[in-house]
Amino acid sequence: MSDAARAELVALQAGAAALEPREAERETLVAAAAAHAEAFLRDLPEGPSNRGWDEVFTPPLEPEFGERGRPLGETLDFLGRSVERPGIATASPRFMGYVPGGGLFHAAIGDFLAAASNKYAGFASAAPGAVRLENATVAWLARTIGFPEGAAGTLTSGGSLANLTAIVAAREARDEEGGGAVYFSRTAHHCIDKALRIAGRARAPRRLIPTDARHRMRADALAEALARDVEAGVRPWLVIASAGTVDTGAVDPLAAIADLCEHHGAWFHVDGAYGGLFMLCPEGREALGGIERADSAALDPHKTLFLPYGTGAVVARDGRTLLEAFSASADYIRPLGETDVGPSPGDLSPELTRHFRALRLWLPLQLAGVGAFRAAQSEKIGLARYFHARLAATEGWEVGAPPDLSLVAFRYRPAAGDVDAFNRALLRRVQEEGRVFLSGTRIDGADWLRCCILSFRTHLDDVDAALDAVIRAAAGLEAGA
Ligand SMILES: *Cc1c(COP(=O)(O)O)cnc(C)c1O
Repeated sequence: MSDAARAELVALQAGAAALEPREAERETLVAAAAAHAEAFLRDLPEGPSNRGWDEVFTPPLEPEFGERGRPLGETLDFLGRSVERPGIATASPRFMGYVPGGGLFHAAIGDFLAAASNKYAGFASAAPGAVRLENATVAWLARTIGFPEGAAGTLTSGGSLANLTAIVAAREARDEEGGGAVYFSRTAHHCIDKALRIAGRARAPRRLIPTDARHRMRADALAEALARDVEAGVRPWLVIASAGTVDTGAVDPLAAIADLCEHHGAWFHVDGAYGGLFMLCPEGREALGGIERADSAALDPHKTLFLPYGTGAVVARDGRTLLEAFSASADYIRPLGETDVGPSPGDLSPELTRHFRALRLWLPLQLAGVGAFRAAQSEKIGLARYFHARLAATEGWEVGAPPDLSLVAFRYRPAAGDVDAFNRALLRRVQEEGRVFLSGTRIDGADWLRCCILSFRTHLDDVDAALDAVIRAAAGLEAGA
């Protein structure tokens, strides 16, 4: 190499030096980032649960992508103003809309460490420790929902990908040629329809099973639909039940559905993205009996285990079904668990190179202990029951049956006027007030409000604030104020 070429490489090395801060600078960066996060967390308890969008656009970074780096302080200020403040405060204790996610601090530390070491978590041969840790974490999830030895699974970006992964495994195991029928109720999450389309089964015969007064799939109606298909020569392929629906939190009769699937040789998939992991606490186990008999389950640690967004999980009762659907290497020919650390995530999922997701789940379980998660879950279910009982005992409110899990759908019955319009206005008023964030849904053509209590930060005072907000807003609307 010529001296000139050498000099050019050395100059480029100097030009790229900003990519590798030195130790003292790293310490400064970490301290500043930690202080920034601390300020964010300090404001959460009293801050609003919802803010306008104006701040997103002011003041912009100029230029947003410059040739030269800019100071961390300026960059963090920008993030705080135009990213962290506007929109719904999903980390707030008073965020009870949709299905709240979490954001455990211990998980943030896990992400930081995973990114800093950048272990390659796709294959056992590259990072045996990372793969062992992911398999141990997924095995813990599988045991939590009562799956036997021989189960396997993988961490996904969320419930949608978990459901898709399970549906592809079910297709490979029981519907390779197509033509098998799919059964679910109208309360199934829309990601199920999306997953069927992506899996090439958009045109599979589809039976929408009616629900009962509590919005649970009717097992007798499922039995009839299955029998009708068998009689007509259509093969029952896949039954998808919900362990906690998003609009009312209803849990389908899982044990009765398991009996029917067993009888007809249909694959039994449970969408437990919202509710499945409540199996950790006694109240949840009471509501979810039968989930342990599923062939596969989608779970969402970024909901029911309070993790930051981006962590779902899929588990299959017979782990080999995932290997058969997704294996990219010849390893799948060997029995599960033949390598010392278990199967590689790259062989169990559509992904190859991936974030070392397990650490953000494993670390909080180590540091806080499983008992803390169990207590928090029991607390959420207790708080939802309390919210339900308080409204049930207050004049004018319609609340339905007590919640199966931690979600209450409710609405106000005004003395006069359009009930739906009133409840839409009620929701708008509560959201605009910004103290508590609730969301709405339509059930059988009617407008309802929902209160989903799932943040680890939500406690009794916050639920009292939610009750106060809806009762005050309804009274104001009634009075025409
Ligand atoms: C949240 C949810 C999903 C979708 O999961 P994502 O993590 O948002 O992809 C699917 N089903 C149910 C029941 C859910 O609550």
